[in-house]
Amino acid sequence: MKTTKMKIGLALCLATGIMLTVFSCKKVNETSAGPDKSGPDQTHTFTIDGNKVIIKEINGLYYFADDITLTPQQFNLLKANSNKSLSTTERGLIINNLVKRWTNGIVYYDLTGLGADTSWTLKAMQNISRVSPVIFVKRTSQANYINFVKGTGNSSSVGMVGGAQNLNIYNYNYPGILMHEIFHALGVNHEQCRPDRDSYAIFYPENVPDEKEFNFNKLSATSNTTVGPFDFESIMMYEPYAFSNTGQPSITKLDGSTYQSSYPTSNLTPSDIATINQMYSGFNYVGLPANTNYEIATALDNNKLLNVSGGSSSDGAQIILYTDGNSNNVRWSLTKNAEGYYQLSPLNAPGKVLTVVGAATANGTKLEIRTNSNTTAQQFNIIPVDGGYYNFSPRNVPSKNVDVPGSNTANSTLLNIWSEGSGNNQKFKFNTF
Ligand SMILES: [Zn+2]
Repeated sequence: MKTTKMKIGLALCLATGIMLTVFSCKKVNETSAGPDKSGPDQTHTFTIDGNKVIIKEINGLYYFADDITLTPQQFNLLKANSNKSLSTTERGLIINNLVKRWTNGIVYYDLTGLGADTSWTLKAMQNISRVSPVIFVKRTSQANYINFVKGTGNSSSVGMVGGAQNLNIYNYNYPGILMHEIFHALGVNHEQCRPDRDSYAIFYPENVPDEKEFNFNKLSATSNTTVGPFDFESIMMYEPYAFSNTGQPSITKLDGSTYQSSYPTSNLTPSDIATINQMYSGFNYVGLPANTNYEIATALDNNKLLNVSGGSSSDGAQIILYTDGNSNNVRWSLTKNAEGYYQLSPLNAPGKVLTVVGAATANGTKLEIRTNSNTTAQQFNIIPVDGGYYNFSPRNVPSKNVDVPGSNTANSTLLNIWSEGSGNNQKFKFNTF
């Protein structure tokens, strides 16, 4: 999947299609956000390989979407790409110039514009660096860098555009939103931009006001030949009601159903990670090795392990913390599915897997083992944090992590899920034995 994934770089996206994620429609954005768009609007509409692409020009800035800005050079390249007489090769050259990646994967940044509120941005950058070859370095005198500034909305250029490029951030205390914008700056577009999105999703223009339709631009597949599975859970994917003004979804799955949006959590999905690793070379993050057996210790006490209570192998057996007894009910076999999510099966109960009880999503929901039916409540996104520890987050509720309630390490404490945090109560070490 790593080789084919593609939310890809504007390079591909612009060649193909784009969408935008705007935060103004997100719950986190209570006061409305979106770049300052005072001044006369002008709308440019192109057709590229049969797809309508709308660009808004506002105060001399070009918006591919509410949170993606294009430089005049990028705008002109895009416009040139709508020329039907171009050959595929010519078009490919344009695309290659449209979105540039950071040289050697090194991104320089300046956080001065955030004042004292830099901790979340630093965390967002660390989250990306841990799972990719991308390195973030505080700027000294480098010419090309991301200049973080507090804004009335969240927006970014796509790729490295040369010189100081502002990344405007309103939700500066949301690492997930910061990662989304930083992904744009790295050259990643919205998941909905993919040329193949209509094979996975339905867009409903009738539920979106005309002035917001550009957020659902889709480009062509001119130079996009290898596309992995569409990822509704990506941090670059709109939520189903984004920009809707009718109360009906603006985008759904092909069967008309909505989907759970993981945005704006601070967990990159496996495909987000694969995308950034595909775009930048030098180090290929492969994640926690699968097909391996582990004991899983809490960071609160390395001798307290995830344990199937009583060594039971029955459906519904509870998951507790317990002192290491070297028994099979503290040993877990990890497997990884094609989408990059893990399943954990205790050695005392083959065929059973770690499961969020009732597939519930509320804080405090407990964990159990249950016969594997491959539900999202039985799949986990295991993400590295500091110190060799990992968070693990159930796929059915990506904004929560497996958690030791109250940081209570007493034997028989029942594990649960809780909104993501940075404490040791959500960090675990996977030890081979
Ligand atoms: Zn975006």
